[in-house]
Amino acid sequence: MIKLNTKIGKHTLQMEFGKMKDLHKFGSIYGNLPQKCTNCQSDNIYLSYKNPKGNDYYTLACGDCTADANFGIKKEDGGLFWKAEKMSIYVASDSQNQENVDNAQKEFGGTIAPGDDVAF
Ligand SMILES: [Zn+2]
Repeated sequence: MIKLNTKIGKHTLQMEFGKMKDLHKFGSIYGNLPQKCTNCQSDNIYLSYKNPKGNDYYTLACGDCTADANFGIKKEDGGLFWKAEKMSIYVASDSQNQENVDNAQKEFGGTIAPGDDVAF
């Protein structure tokens, strides 16, 4: 088992890999994320997931200003990649929309909280 600790803002993400190839594959994504929110410059950023209306969104989110940015999803294998977008604050178009997001997060068991160990 190969362990990799990488920083996402002020939080440490611990990853374990069985193969060097996987370490390289995922390390190249999660080791190269911005270290601060591009909106408010906070380092209180973390990985998040939401599923409004059945669509998956894998995001880097800010715990202070709520800005986030989506990871891209590769068509070939469904793998994620960082598009190096600016993070921005999501504005729900209506209250139902926000309710869907809240329900999705409940189903998923919440976001990946800062400080959690995340094993891939
Ligand atoms: Zn922010």
